[in-house]
Order: sequence, then structure tokens, then C-alpha cells
Amino acid sequence: MTTEFDYDLFVIGAGSGGVRAARMAASKGKRVAVAEERYLGGTCVNVGCVPKKLFVYASQFPELFHSSKGFGWSIPGQPTLDWATLRDNKSAEIERLNGIYNNLINNSGADLFDGRATVAGPHLVQVNDKVYRAKTILIATGGWPYIPEFPGSELAISSNEMFFLESLPQRAVVVGGGYIAVEFAGILNGLGVETHLVYRGQNLLKSFDLEMGARITEGMVAKGVQVHLSTQINEIRQDGDELAVVLDNGHTLKAGIALYATGRQANTARLGLENSAVVMRPNGSIVVDNHFATAEPSIYALGDVIDRVQLTPVAIQEAMVLVDHLYGDGSVQIDYSDIPTAVFCQPEFATVGLSEEQAREEYTDIAVYLSDFKPMLQTLGGGAERITMKLVVDNQTDRVVGCHMVGEHAAEIIQGLGIALKAGATKAHFDATVGIHPSAAEEFVTMRERAR
Ligand code: NDP
Repeated sequence: MTTEFDYDLFVIGAGSGGVRAARMAASKGKRVAVAEERYLGGTCVNVGCVPKKLFVYASQFPELFHSSKGFGWSIPGQPTLDWATLRDNKSAEIERLNGIYNNLINNSGADLFDGRATVAGPHLVQVNDKVYRAKTILIATGGWPYIPEFPGSELAISSNEMFFLESLPQRAVVVGGGYIAVEFAGILNGLGVETHLVYRGQNLLKSFDLEMGARITEGMVAKGVQVHLSTQINEIRQDGDELAVVLDNGHTLKAGIALYATGRQANTARLGLENSAVVMRPNGSIVVDNHFATAEPSIYALGDVIDRVQLTPVAIQEAMVLVDHLYGDGSVQIDYSDIPTAVFCQPEFATVGLSEEQAREEYTDIAVYLSDFKPMLQTLGGGAERITMKLVVDNQTDRVVGCHMVGEHAAEIIQGLGIALKAGATKAHFDATVGIHPSAAEEFVTMRERAR
């Protein structure tokens, strides 16, 4: 390291991407600092993926209690939920993970600063009134929930607050039609809250395969979520202990909480980026090139703050690419195509590759295979949930270009199919694969009839 710098790499933000970059750089012998003002592990660990999934598990028990009867179990009395126990056990688990992140950073040899860092110049980072000189600065500050402004918007809460509610409301309104809205609608409904999902568009999860979105919507409604499509909110008022959520169709919903899951914005405000040549888009996200370089040669950015794909595993992969670019041989790449993803709504959804709509645009001749069936658990369990699977195939090459699944264990199943798609698997490969019986997953290798 040249002595004019205190650090080779100064990472701002200890979330998934920032921590991975810091650890990898430190493991290559670089002098690394990480500054974090809030919590170690970022959104994913603290107010995102991890606590969300714990809440999803919690919300699935009532259906399991119900299904257990058909398998001979009887549960004396009515099972009840103690929200405080769930919330506090979740928080204890997150604290454990914060500790692990702390150890990971410290054991890597990087210096960890507890405080807000700002960019004071192309090579300068200020934390807690001290300025450090860094050869390279990495902005990995992630994103923050966005709530639009409207009359009463100050009464709305975001996903951040959902993890720390004092008590569970009897009724809730969830606004939005993306990942977070459908996931929290499922959680609240499963935990026994009367749940209204209000979405301004016609199709929930509209960026995914439309048919899958429709199945998810049907499945959510069957489980008890009250879905209001093509509906906007005019106003929220305090109404005694509850909120009055006034819809644009003349109806008013009463609820203890109004959760706005209306997207997330890059965390770049008051970061001192005006002291550099870094370029931001109107929504505050940072513009970077293929190597995550900003317009300021010494400053890089990755993860949610660049607003490409807001997913933890993508931020981690971006960090690996960046560290290899800066300190390795530059051979590590990231491919943004065929990224498997899951939405932990109920029913669960997972997907990799192109939706049917995207495939129709990209290819002239496609085949669609579809399977819809009752999971085996329901035969004795008596639940109403179904499983829907879909394969989209390019007929010219026989390559499977899209796999989609709605139903139990979708995320676990689609992860493996993600490898198949990366490897360029054809429908013939799927057909030649022996199924695992009895499983839901085997359906993916036994679909023979073209639906379209
Ligand atoms: P999304 O961008 O997925 O969805 C935002 C939703 O809010 C859209 O339905 C949008 O409607 C609606 N919306 C936006 N602005 C307004 C407005 N002014 N009034 C009413 N509705 C509005 O964002 P999320 O907040 O759900 O999630 C953010 C990101 O976090 C996701 O995109 C995903 O990448 C990530 N994430 C991943 C998870 C996972 O991997 N399981 C879980 C949770 C989050 P419209 O469609 O009409 O624009």
C-alpha cells in the first residue's frame, strides 16, 4: 500500500455486498475499513430476508395445525399466537447474526467503524469527525423503503417497522403489488390478522409470468387475503384506535396498521457524493459501469444502491466481481440473466429465466408445459392449496428458457433448476431426468403434454 493512504479500500455500509467486498479484499492482504451507522448485515439480516422468512414460518403453523387432523393428530384447545414471543425470539436470532457479522469483519482483519460515514472527497471518508484517506471507496449503502406523499401518509408504516410492532393489529391494510406487499399480506393473514391488500394495478407481481401472478392471487384469496386490485388510496385518517384508509372507489377500510410496500430507494442522501464526480439517477441510485466504477475513478458502488437487481445474492456476487477486478485477475464475472428468485408469499412462488410473455417476445416459436395439481399433503390434510408449474421452451433449440412454480417448496425446487438453465438444459434433458418419487419436484421432469 502506498503510505499516502490510510486504507486500500474503505467500504461504506456493512450489508451483504459491503461485508463480502471488505472480507474478500482483506483476505487478499489489503488494508480495509468498513463503516456502518445502523446495523451489521444490512437490510437482509435486520429488516429483510432473514426476519421475514422467520415470520413466514410463524404464519404457516395454523394451516399445519389444521392439516394435522387428517393425519390423526388432535390438538387440545385452540392454538394461540403470542406475538411478543415471536418478535423477541426473532430479534434475539438477528442479534446473534449481528454478532457473527461482527466476528467475520474483525477476523478478516478489516477495521470496523461504528458511525455514519460520508464522502469528503474522491479519496476521503469522514466518520465520527475523523477523516481517512482511502485509495478506493466502495459505496454499499443499500436502499430504504419509499412511501409516497399523500394526505395521512405519515400514518403509514414501512416494512422496517413491521419487524418491531408493539402488538399485532386485528386488521391490516397492505399497499403495493410487489415482493414485499405480497409477502407481508401472507404473513399477516397467516398470523390471524384480517388482511386487505390494495394494489393500484391489475396484476400482482406484474414483472413475473402473468399466469403465475394470477395463480398466486387466487391462492392468496383462497387463504383469506382480501385483494383490492386497480385501487388507490386517497387518504389515511386516524379513527380512534384504528386508521381509516379511504380508497378511491368510495370504500373505507378500518385497520390497525397501513403498511406501504411501494418500493425502495437508494440510500445516497447526505452521503457527501457532491464532493465527488459520482453520477446519480433522478431516483438517487448510483450509475456504475460493468466493473461497478462510478464516474469518479476512485469510487465504486454495488448492491441495492445501484438499483440493478435488489437481491442479496446478487450484491454478494457483485462484491466478488469487484474485488477480483480491483485485486485479482479480473476473471470473475456476473451474469444478470437467469437469476433465480423466490417470493415468499403464500402460496410461495419461485422462478428462473423468462416469463411466457418475455419468451414470446424473444423467440418466434415457443412451447409451454403446464402442470397443476394438489400437493400430497392435502390428500389427508384437506387444505385447498395447489401447485402450479410451468416450463417455457424455445422450440428451435429445445432449450428450457423459463421455469416457474407456485406452491410449497417452490424456492427450494427452483434453485436446482437454476443450475439446469445456466447449463443450457434442453427439454430433452428434463425428459431424460429420472424423477424423485413421491415429490412435487418430479413433475418438472414428467411434463409431456404441451399446454400451448
Ligand atoms: P417492488 O418494486 O417489487 O414493488 C413496489 C410496488 O409498489 C409495485 O407494485 C408498485 O406498483 C407499487 N407502487 C409504487 N409506487 C406506488 C405509489 N405511489 N402508489 C401505489 N403503489 C405504488 O418493491 P418492494 O417494495 O416490494 O420490494 C423492493 C425490492 O426488494 C424488490 O423489488 C426485490 O428486489 C427486493 N425484495 C426481494 C425479496 C425476495 O427476494 N424474496 C423480498 C422483498 C424484497 P406498480 O407495479 O404499479 O408500479
